[in-house]
Amino acid sequence: MGYPAAVTQFTHSTTAFASSAGFENRCGRRLAKRKLSPVFSDHVSLSTVSSISPARIAMSAPCWTRAAAISAGAKVHGETPALSLRREGSRWRIATPRGVVHADKVLLATNGFTDELWPALRRTIVPVFSSIAATAPVSDEVARSIMPTRPMLYESGHITVYYRIDQHNRLLMGGCGPMRWIKSPNDVAYPMRYAERLWPQLKGVSWTHGWNSRLAITGDHYPHVHEPAENILIPLGCNGRGVALATAMGAQLARRLIGGAKAEIDMPITGIKPIPMHAFWPVGVTTAVIAGRVRDRLGI
Ligand SMILES: Cc1cc2nc3c(=O)[nH]c(=O)nc-3n(C[C@H](O)[C@H](O)[C@H](O)COP(=O)(O)OP(=O)(O)OC[C@H]3O[C@@H](n4cnc5c(N)ncnc54)[C@H](O)[C@@H]3O)c2cc1C
Repeated sequence: MGYPAAVTQFTHSTTAFASSAGFENRCGRRLAKRKLSPVFSDHVSLSTVSSISPARIAMSAPCWTRAAAISAGAKVHGETPALSLRREGSRWRIATPRGVVHADKVLLATNGFTDELWPALRRTIVPVFSSIAATAPVSDEVARSIMPTRPMLYESGHITVYYRIDQHNRLLMGGCGPMRWIKSPNDVAYPMRYAERLWPQLKGVSWTHGWNSRLAITGDHYPHVHEPAENILIPLGCNGRGVALATAMGAQLARRLIGGAKAEIDMPITGIKPIPMHAFWPVGVTTAVIAGRVRDRLGI
């Protein structure tokens, strides 16, 4: 199987893990047909997905990820950046502000925060920001007029927008915001303006929360796995779909790290190839977002 086919198959199988496939699209199409917004039309393709809490998976589910690692004897040192990484004899030497760690094997999983730890790696991804803004709780009546059945929805246009109403009647709008860390909910202006265009009854609602972080986008929009030396694996570039994908990749990456080259995994292992003219990514992303929004608005 070629590279895209293998990764597509892997991506689809992990997406199925996070979405209720039979339900997908039907509810979105129904909402669009019922014209719950003056903007929903044939060219706005809405899909519904089911939800999971990444924080709960990472922090509390007893048989998963962090908790599983700790119960197997791992020590977790959060807020401790790796400052440098190099070979020292047959082991890896990782320097941190608080001390040096020696390791037989390294999994470098810095994704959208990738820096200079490994040569040229930073230039293989575009570290775009994705943002979410949330309103103050709205009345039951307004909530029902927006989404009577409370699905999670995303618009599969050129620039993805996704939304839901939470258990406190807050509308959460997610999508592309500014390409920098935000300081207040007002910085997430586009999803907020878009929400008011979708549902004019929201005009004047207060937006009380906003947050954002970095995603890693790759040139081919597929996740990448690199193995630039023995006993180091580098997965990155989930392209904004990492909750299920990165979780599913974890077991495979562990198998490869433990088993070495003879342990085959479903993901292809590729070379590190920097994106040409990487330094200009902020200009490129801003232009692509504006063009995508215009095309989504015009339905082309
Ligand atoms: C607003 C928003 C909404 C999203 N919504 C969804 C969604 O609905 N579904 C979905 O599937 N995905 C979603 N994503 C994407 C998802 O969060 C990512 O794909 C996922 O977190 C990737 O996991 P990861 O472990 O590869 O990277 P990350 O979660 O980014 O983790 C990388 C970690 O590496 C650490 N790090 C970096 N450099 C160093 C260093 N030198 N030393 C030590 N540590 C370092 C960072 O601090 C960070 O904790 C969303 C992202 C954002 C920002």
